[in-house]
Amino acid sequence: MTTETPLTCYVCGRTSEEWITVNMIGLFEDQEAAGKRFEEKHGEEPESYLFVCPNCDDANPNYAKNCREKYGVYQ
Ligand SMILES: [Zn+2]
Repeated sequence: MTTETPLTCYVCGRTSEEWITVNMIGLFEDQEAAGKRFEEKHGEEPESYLFVCPNCDDANPNYAKNCREKYGVYQ
């Protein structure tokens, strides 16, 4: 991936251009599984690639860590 893409937070469901990726680092590896779960949680498909945003990471680091362990993270 070489284009800048806004990201969707798995936890709060926001999509923002504040958060971009050019290389997938920090995003979930299993986007498909995370996307299905996102749809169950938020009632709609994610608009973009899923990750945990810094706000949610700060607010609930244990949950963020569990999510990353569950879906994997590109390093
Ligand atoms: Zn969030």
